[in-house]
Amino acid sequence: MYFGVDYYPEHWGEKRWETDLKMMKQLNFNIIRIAEFAWCRLEPEEGRYDFLWLDKVIELCKKYEISVMLGVPVRNVPVWLMEKDPSVAIKAHEGHLESFGSRYTTCLNNPTLREHALKLSEMMAARYADYENVVSWHLDNEYGDASICYCDNCRKRFINWLKDKYKTVDQLNEAWGMVFWSLEINTWDQLWVPLKINHFPHNPGLLQDYRRFTSWTTEQFVMEQGDIFRRLAPGKTITTNFQSMTRYHTDYHKLGEALDVVSVNYYPPVSYNSMDLDIMRGIKNKNFWVVEQKSGPPGNVHNGYLTPAPGETRMYTYQSIAHGAEAILYFRWRPSYFGQEQLHKGILNYDAFTNRIFDEIGRLKMMLQC
Ligand SMILES: [Zn+2]
Repeated sequence: MYFGVDYYPEHWGEKRWETDLKMMKQLNFNIIRIAEFAWCRLEPEEGRYDFLWLDKVIELCKKYEISVMLGVPVRNVPVWLMEKDPSVAIKAHEGHLESFGSRYTTCLNNPTLREHALKLSEMMAARYADYENVVSWHLDNEYGDASICYCDNCRKRFINWLKDKYKTVDQLNEAWGMVFWSLEINTWDQLWVPLKINHFPHNPGLLQDYRRFTSWTTEQFVMEQGDIFRRLAPGKTITTNFQSMTRYHTDYHKLGEALDVVSVNYYPPVSYNSMDLDIMRGIKNKNFWVVEQKSGPPGNVHNGYLTPAPGETRMYTYQSIAHGAEAILYFRWRPSYFGQEQLHKGILNYDAFTNRIFDEIGRLKMMLQC
């Protein structure tokens, strides 16, 4: 089985990479996931791609017989893309455009985003198709974990989606009961998206179908992106990470159809539990991968977590495997001392020294025989 960790080489100087890989080998790690947030380093300016640093990381992995799950960023765009087309931003429920500066703030129905994200996917597929130790494509990160978008591009695609489903406005009016509160429409162009209304709610048929449409948007995009890798770089497992039921924004059963293997994050016990693992196994009726197995408390990102007690990290690893995980990648190798997740711990300490979590994971290698 795959046994490894999520690693962010772009966070650390190149001199550090080999030391980290050597230390990973001490834990018998045979895979790392990289690059899912690295678009600003992969394409620092429009059309100027820089894959040299990523080549070096992947080559170093080869030297240490470590496979690579290569992340392909999509929704965390570089600032030049936001400058080029500010409408790339999600239009929030309240009607404003989401600010640049965090993550998952872009709309998958935006033509500019789609063009550049799929172009980057094609570039990465072509470049790494022949790298044998690149064994998997990890499409973006946590698809579906974003605000719902209400922009004009979404509205246009929503209307087309509804035309396909209901065929005529009369059938839409009837299905949603639009006579209630005098909402009936005469033409498709009159339809609106459920932006925030301060006091009373929108028609529930509209709300439900808008959620379904949002899920469909993600499913279609992931299918389209996956097809690029099937066409240009076949033979590598296509996956992405799902989340727990509490973040169930997408129809994971449909999204799973776009993937070879379902992957999931696993941060028990606060917002994840073993039932999430069973749901993942049920999506394709086959075993799955855990690509973010908790190794330390997720800090300020998920409140309520404590540092794992002695034995707890191993216990939850066994739990994942017992429920059908065929890959375990811990999140993450080393906590960063900058950025929004700087309190989110990893296997190493901030100073890169080892600790009891490192030792505990080290003892797992005897059991797993990776
Ligand atoms: Zn949108």
